[in-house]
Amino acid sequence: MSTGSVLLWFRSDLRVHDHGLLAQAAAKGHPVVALFVWEEAWMRTTRLGWPRMGSHRVRFLAETLADLRDQLAAQGVTLRVRFGDPETIVAEEAARWEVQQVWAHTEPAWDEVQLEKRLALRLRRQGVWVHFSSADTLHHRDDLPFAVPALPRVFTQYRSRVEKSVRVRPEAVLETGLVGVKCEPAWEVPLVPREAAGRYAGGERAGLARLNHYLWQTDRLAVYKQTRNGLLNEDDSSKFSPWLACGALSPRRVWHEVKRYEQERGANESTYWLGFELLWRDFFHWSARAHGRDLFLDGGIRQARVAWRRDRDDFERWRTGTTGYALVDACMRELAATGYMSNRGRQVVASFLVKTLGVDWRWGARWFESQLVDCDPASNYGNWQYVAGIGHDPVPFRVFDVEKQARTYDRDGAFVRRWGPKALTLPMVDFATATAEVRERYRRAGLPV
Ligand SMILES: Cc1cc2nc3c(=O)[nH]c(=O)nc-3n(C[C@H](O)[C@H](O)[C@H](O)COP(=O)(O)OP(=O)(O)OC[C@H]3O[C@@H](n4cnc5c(N)ncnc54)[C@H](O)[C@@H]3O)c2cc1C
Repeated sequence: MSTGSVLLWFRSDLRVHDHGLLAQAAAKGHPVVALFVWEEAWMRTTRLGWPRMGSHRVRFLAETLADLRDQLAAQGVTLRVRFGDPETIVAEEAARWEVQQVWAHTEPAWDEVQLEKRLALRLRRQGVWVHFSSADTLHHRDDLPFAVPALPRVFTQYRSRVEKSVRVRPEAVLETGLVGVKCEPAWEVPLVPREAAGRYAGGERAGLARLNHYLWQTDRLAVYKQTRNGLLNEDDSSKFSPWLACGALSPRRVWHEVKRYEQERGANESTYWLGFELLWRDFFHWSARAHGRDLFLDGGIRQARVAWRRDRDDFERWRTGTTGYALVDACMRELAATGYMSNRGRQVVASFLVKTLGVDWRWGARWFESQLVDCDPASNYGNWQYVAGIGHDPVPFRVFDVEKQARTYDRDGAFVRRWGPKALTLPMVDFATATAEVRERYRRAGLPV
């Protein structure tokens, strides 16, 4: 048994169940200081005029941390939440509590990877040993049948190789109790805006309750494949994403529960399909790792040179749900009101912004980043690039026809009645003409159309 104390820096792994690093600390008898850094940069107003983390996200994260604090306290560990620059704060806390080691999960996006490198150097100079372990994905990085930089370009290839050869590891279990380092709590959490009434409650317990509801209480998993494109109803899809994104719910827990469900209540296409979607999540995670900075640059991972429009008026009409296209407007208003939008909705509005209005896809991605309670940079920027046709989508210039999508997925108009504007406005552009003009821009950029 080792007695060297460990600073466990929580990031997008905000839970106690299936937490590999907590389990390791318990097994080896390391006393633990738990830390979360609420980054100052998340709250700063960006050049586009809004904070990277809007009020829905602030509320959800604050609730998640409160739940984690309680769960850790029940294990005898104090959670310290500090506000500021993570590099400085982690180093400060390591010195303050005289720990020998700092442990954390890695994150896939460029800024976080750079931060990890800087922090590792700084801590080593302080004489502190740093251990970053593979991040919060369904499959473990070491089990992949290829090196991450050699990730297949097309998802189908990725899926077939992974499905053939990789198994999901068992969950990490806390076999023995944790030991906490004696330290005072810290709670430097920004004020939660009053107007942000939550559609989803943050925290591990709420995430596990949602899993239980979707699988065992309602059997909605059994019809997931048929309902997943629904726009309106809470149980059309799993809604696991808010908890998965911050790690309050483990993807392995979801996977193993689905397997148990299949054994006890039967397997079908729907039960398979939920796992299939978790592979998409992993795929974007590895892609972010593999493509680094290109995930955030206007040309995307294809390094394309499309002449994006940067028209603030057009963008504002999209952002505020006043395009005159009822489905787009309803989706955008739902997002602003709740911090969530269905996958179908996201595809439609992203396609409209980029392939019909021709606006820089990153503006849309940044608005989503500010609003979505399930925002994670790999899935958000990866999906935006996919829809913009400068990422992993193998189909040239795929466009979502707004009217056709409304007829198919909102046949009785219930979704538009629920979230859409009460008074109709004229469409801001003619869909076919505007889309043809953008297609021409793609052609000029040398992209297949
Ligand atoms: C433009 C755009 C931006 C997006 N931004 C995000 C984001 O920031 N965070 C995020 O988690 N998802 C994002 N998605 C993917 C997808 O829309 C959401 O994961 C899904 O809507 C969440 O609802 P759900 O949990 O009910 O999904 P379900 O259909 O029940 O799927 C189960 C889980 O699989 C994963 N998943 C499903 N589809 C995808 C996908 N296309 N990419 C990655 N993971 C997926 C999610 O973790 C999801 O919770 C984005 C999609 C688009 C088109």
